[in-house]
Amino acid sequence: MKNMVKLFGTIALVAVIGFITAGCDWDECNHPDGLTYWENDFIIAPTCSTTGLAKGYCWRCESYENVSVPVTQDRHNIVWTTTAQASCISNGSKEGTCSLCNKHETESINKLPHYGPSNIIKEPTCLLPGQREVDCTSCHQKQTEIISALGHSWRTVNSGIWKRQCSRCNEYSLI
Ligand SMILES: [Zn+2]
Ligand SMILES: [Zn+2]
Ligand SMILES: [Zn+2]
Ligand SMILES: [Zn+2]
Repeated sequence: MKNMVKLFGTIALVAVIGFITAGCDWDECNHPDGLTYWENDFIIAPTCSTTGLAKGYCWRCESYENVSVPVTQDRHNIVWTTTAQASCISNGSKEGTCSLCNKHETESINKLPHYGPSNIIKEPTCLLPGQREVDCTSCHQKQTEIISALGHSWRTVNSGIWKRQCSRCNEYSLI
């Protein structure tokens, strides 16, 4: 019974010290190390033209406080218009203007793949790429394309010893 009392006494003391320590930090902190926040903590997201507001966290006093987020050039609100359609022969392009700061941008649009009925000229194997001829319905030219190698199709077999064997080319290795 005496031991129990001593144990409770210790727990109470630790709790009081813990409380006082936390209280001290809070009073003295005022966040000299700054406040940490991520995009998830935005209350109002900043833009290229307006500051935002975030819920900032202080690692010293372990508390939150709202903090102003500076204007950022990563957050324009660009409205895009296509100025040239991409085709299978040439890149396209688009132009955009930010509705907030009028920043103007031009970007190219990647070429489209050739598309149409195709013939396999050379079958790919496990290790070697093949080839296909595409009769493109857009540019009306026959295009030769590479077909990626297939890679082995492993399955596990046991013929006295365990091995893995390719069901296509019969290549095998012990496991
Ligand atoms: Zn703090
Ligand atoms: Zn902008
Ligand atoms: Zn084409
Ligand atoms: Zn194979």
